[in-house]
Amino acid sequence: MSTKRPKPRKNEPVFEERDTDIVECGDCPATCCHNLSITILKPTNRHEEQELLWHLNYDTVRVYIQNKRWHVYVKGRCMYLNDKNLCTIYDNRFDKCRNHMPPSCERFTTWYDKMFTTREELQKYFDSERRKRSRKRAKQKAAKAK
Ligand code: SF4
Ligand code: SF4
Repeated sequence: MSTKRPKPRKNEPVFEERDTDIVECGDCPATCCHNLSITILKPTNRHEEQELLWHLNYDTVRVYIQNKRWHVYVKGRCMYLNDKNLCTIYDNRFDKCRNHMPPSCERFTTWYDKMFTTREELQKYFDSERRKRSRKRAKQKAAKAK
C-alpha cells in the first residue's frame, strides 16, 4: 500500500484533528458518517422509473450511478457522531464503517459518475436513454432490412 497521503477533494471543510488510527481521517469532517448509500437495481421499465422518481420528492434523497451501478443516497447524520463529528463507538464501530477507509472513500475519490438531485434531472436522463435505445433499435432494424 502507498504511504503517500492522498489529497482531499476541493472545497472540503477541514475539521480539527481527531484521535484516530487512520491518519487520512484525522482532519476529515466525517463525510462518510453523513450519508447513507443504498445499492439498488437499475430501473428497467416505466413503473420502476416512476418509483425511483418518487424518491426524489424528499430533499434529503439523491440518486446516483457509479460504474453502471445505481444507488439511492440519503443525507443524514449517524447517531453515533458527537458534536465534534467524532465517532463515539470508534473502537466498536460496525464492520461496514471499519471497512470503509481512505483512499477509497468520499473524501478522496470522485465517487459517482452521475448524480441526480431532482425529479426533473432524472426524468431527463430516462428520456434521453429512451431516445438512445430507440435510435439504436431503428438502426438495427434498418441494417436488417438491407
Ligand atoms: S473514511 Fe474518508 S470520508 Fe470517512 S472519515 Fe475517513 S477520510 Fe473522511
Ligand atoms: S458508527 Fe461511527 S464510524 Fe460508523 S457511521 Fe456512525 S459515526 Fe461513523
